[in-house]
Amino acid sequence: MDKIRMTTPLVEMDGDEMTRVLWAMIKEKLILPFVDLKTEYYDLGLLHRNETKDQVTIDAANATRRLGVAVKCATITPNKQRMEEYPQLTEMWKSPNGTIRAILDGTAFRAPILLPFIHPVVKTWEAPITIARHAYGDMYKAVDMTTDEPGTAKLVFQGASGGEKTLTVQTVEGPAVWQAQHNTEKSIRAFARSCFQYAINRKQDLWFSTKDTISKVYDGEFKRIFEEEYETTYKAEFEKLGLTYFYTLIDDAVARVIRSKGGFIWALKNYDGDVMSDMVATAFGSLAMMTSVLVSPDGTMEFEASHGTVTRHYYRYLKGEKTSTNPVATIFAWSGAFKRRGELDGLGDLVKFGQAMEDASLETLSDGIMTGDLLPLVEPGFQARSVNSEEFLDEIAKRLTNKLA
Ligand code: NAP
Ligand code: MG
Repeated sequence: MDKIRMTTPLVEMDGDEMTRVLWAMIKEKLILPFVDLKTEYYDLGLLHRNETKDQVTIDAANATRRLGVAVKCATITPNKQRMEEYPQLTEMWKSPNGTIRAILDGTAFRAPILLPFIHPVVKTWEAPITIARHAYGDMYKAVDMTTDEPGTAKLVFQGASGGEKTLTVQTVEGPAVWQAQHNTEKSIRAFARSCFQYAINRKQDLWFSTKDTISKVYDGEFKRIFEEEYETTYKAEFEKLGLTYFYTLIDDAVARVIRSKGGFIWALKNYDGDVMSDMVATAFGSLAMMTSVLVSPDGTMEFEASHGTVTRHYYRYLKGEKTSTNPVATIFAWSGAFKRRGELDGLGDLVKFGQAMEDASLETLSDGIMTGDLLPLVEPGFQARSVNSEEFLDEIAKRLTNKLA
């Protein structure tokens, strides 16, 4: 069989722990036998980020801007515990996803992969809820400090033209902790545009929620920019398609989402999106079935799984155990990247290959062969058995071979 041809390379960002193990298995079993794979490879594994002083992350993001399509493995974001686990770390490196998102200034759209034999925990949900997470700024680009004596903190903005704006944050009587966050109008506007555009592409309603009753200026700015974009650019198209743009407070949105039927896009600020996407993924089935794509205003796309590096499974793997870690969201990251690359380069076979990877994965699951995380979720009466990751990938590979023959 001739291998499927690629012209432009994908940006490949390797990662950490169990997902790094799965990454290699997916390439070996599902990709390399079928595709003449072309990638620009960046090793975002924690130790290599440390060796390069995190330059590799910046290089990978810039390569993504240049080439237009990337696929990323989950990576460790170091915290205090990781600093003890990896004593060679010279710094508590920032979240790679945060760095990449800041450079691409895109929006992350996360959607669950639904299966007919797994019903969401929330009984009313009939269709996927896609979460659009703003990918720049707020807590992820904040500066923090602690102070240990009484005093006053001020926020000072020095304009390039010489003007200055000062605000007293608080006067404290003792030790305190501080944080300053920001966002840019340009990024919020790009976020709004990607959301409205994506809603139109998917023909789904768009919900947006913030806490503008408390955060009147900061969140108020998000609300204002969304409204402005809607009124000036998207309203006509929304009305033509019968779509709704719906703004409400985040607390109200949470209650309404739980009572909804699903099938809409829920736009959220960076932190809200981080938290809510895990909640929605878990309620739909498994974190391991949640896909994610970061979309820039210029159409650049970075595909990944929503879950992390699955540390607990990795430690069992290191002890020689064969784990039953679910590779589906990581497979869908690769398939999404192939489909997008194929569309951009006019390579129909590559698009078909991406689709075949997804179909083969879903077929394997429908045949009742799955990883351990899904087994407790299937409907009573549905015959299923749990296999380890390697066996699961072999089953997918069999079906993929048949599809491509
Ligand atoms: P996690 O890796 O998503 O795993 C949390 C738990 O969810 C796992 O212990 C496992 O539960 C279950 N799970 C997640 N993905 C699974 C899969 N594919 N198959 C089967 N079960 C799965 O989150 P975490 O433990 O909070 O974070 C671990 C590391 O990942 C951290 O260092 C964090 O910084 C990083 N992280 C990276 C990204 C990213 O790169 N996009 C995102 C989030 C977290 P059981 O153990 O009960 O089986
Ligand atoms: Mg999260």
